[in-house]
Amino acid sequence: MASLTLLPSRIWLSVLSTRVSSGRPYLFRPAKLSQLGDLGKAGPSMHELSITQSIVDAVCERAAGRPVHTVSVRVGMLTAVVPDSMRFCFDLTTAGTVAEGAALEIEQPPGTARCRACSADFTLTDLVLLCPCGSADVEITSGRELQIISMRVG
Ligand SMILES: [Zn+2]
Repeated sequence: MASLTLLPSRIWLSVLSTRVSSGRPYLFRPAKLSQLGDLGKAGPSMHELSITQSIVDAVCERAAGRPVHTVSVRVGMLTAVVPDSMRFCFDLTTAGTVAEGAALEIEQPPGTARCRACSADFTLTDLVLLCPCGSADVEITSGRELQIISMRVG
């Protein structure tokens, strides 16, 4: 039993040592092994960085030169975005822009899915797409949202 629980943490050690160009350590929460399939190649840092960059671009465009104080976003659980990583990327990508120093509020609703086998609707809190009945034939109905809800400027 003990060896089963040790395996995932060993794999994550190599990811934990990843650093971004600023030299600050870039930490990830431990993830389930099933998530590595989706994120392993590009790495979670590029995932959050590219998403956050798009948000910051949109925010700066809308701000039209006015200083931005707060940005609120809704990021569905199934986007696999880690809030702490997103905050870190936000500080990184807003540097030198009108949104520098702005607070980032992240709302992270869980995903929902419907099972095609038993027709049950259920909540997903991670990327394991399995119905409680055991079927993997599920349709995601929400949880992939990526929206800017509001921003405070001026
Ligand atoms: Zn089912």
